[in-house]
Amino acid sequence: MAKVVISSRGVERILSGHPWIYRSDVVDASGAEPGAVVELVDRRKRFWGQALYSSKSQIALRLLTREPRPFDRAFLAERIRAAADYRKNIAKGAQAYRLVAAEGDLLPSLVIDRYGECFVVQTLSQGMEKLKPAIVEILQELYSVESIVERNDVPVRSLEGLSEQKGTLARETVAEVVVEEHGVKFAFDLLNGQKTGGFLDQRENRGAARAYARGRLLDCFTYAGGFALTMASACKSVVGIDSSAEGLALARRNQEMNGLTNLEWKEANCFDFLKAADRAGERFDTVVLDPPPFARQKSSVESALRGYRELNLRALKMLNPEGFLVTCSCSYHVSEADFLGAIASAALDAHRTVTVVERRTQSRDHPILLTVPETHYLKCLILRVQ
Ligand code: SAH
Repeated sequence: MAKVVISSRGVERILSGHPWIYRSDVVDASGAEPGAVVELVDRRKRFWGQALYSSKSQIALRLLTREPRPFDRAFLAERIRAAADYRKNIAKGAQAYRLVAAEGDLLPSLVIDRYGECFVVQTLSQGMEKLKPAIVEILQELYSVESIVERNDVPVRSLEGLSEQKGTLARETVAEVVVEEHGVKFAFDLLNGQKTGGFLDQRENRGAARAYARGRLLDCFTYAGGFALTMASACKSVVGIDSSAEGLALARRNQEMNGLTNLEWKEANCFDFLKAADRAGERFDTVVLDPPPFARQKSSVESALRGYRELNLRALKMLNPEGFLVTCSCSYHVSEADFLGAIASAALDAHRTVTVVERRTQSRDHPILLTVPETHYLKCLILRVQ
């Protein structure tokens, strides 16, 4: 196995529990092939672990293990099996969930989502790309696989010098998978849907939100009707808004499949919709806000907070007394404290008294590593509005 020499700052990264070592902390990688599993040593040749080497990315090394035992196919299979075993408990009964969540499952840059017996794989580094054939085999050993597809059509791959790809890796191409979540059927388009087909990180929050659903519900950024359909049976009427026609087509399909009749869908920009609805004096008893990440980098935190403030202000103004607001942020760069601050400021402007009923995060199949802050990105607050 090739050795890569890292600086003392690189060693410090490992000791701090973070799996990424930046290119500036690589002293010598001359013997390493792009995407190889390499041994990490310091200048005094002391062994520090094994990592995936990238010849392109600023994240030059992604730590796999601190053990000396070679990170081979058996080791990889063990990691995937450990991830699967953990889900047996925390995603019990779920048919669609994240089976492998990259760093969160000690398999940096690998994502595997499970939809019934169909699997969606993302290999987001040169190293994981190389391991892809082994990953496909291992999944077929563990499950009676109907289909494995790759959704490597993501721009981050370019940082690794990898092309964007999507398609079937094993078994059949499945146009649509139908799975149940919280007793509601959802159809997923694994090859063409957003992300890997759906927003699995909100699974537990959709379930939690249902407990507060009542009266007239507004679900902003509904995509395929995730929150709207989960909460519909507890509501008198539901309006789902999204700017994506494809998302809403799926939402209608999901509504029909479940025989629900109290929902309507509107294709609109949620900012515009909320402004107009507020002006028109519309009122709701429950509102869900689940926008896309507003801050993809640190420099856009301020504008992201303005966006959250505006959305939440409108929602708060339109809620009837004793209403509930379920409000989310999936921007890693926006901390929970900042997010709470933006909503507090909106509450003051809206002259509403707001109680934090639940402070939630991403579903447990998207594990948060204590020493890897990047793994904690989703905030979901359930608020009582008086
Ligand atoms: N709530 C969904 C996931 C929402 S993801 C679920 O539980 O599955 C964010 C959604 O916001 C996407 O569907 C995207 O199409 C939509 N979107 C992004 N910007 C928007 C905007 N300005 N107005 C309306 N929808 C928007």
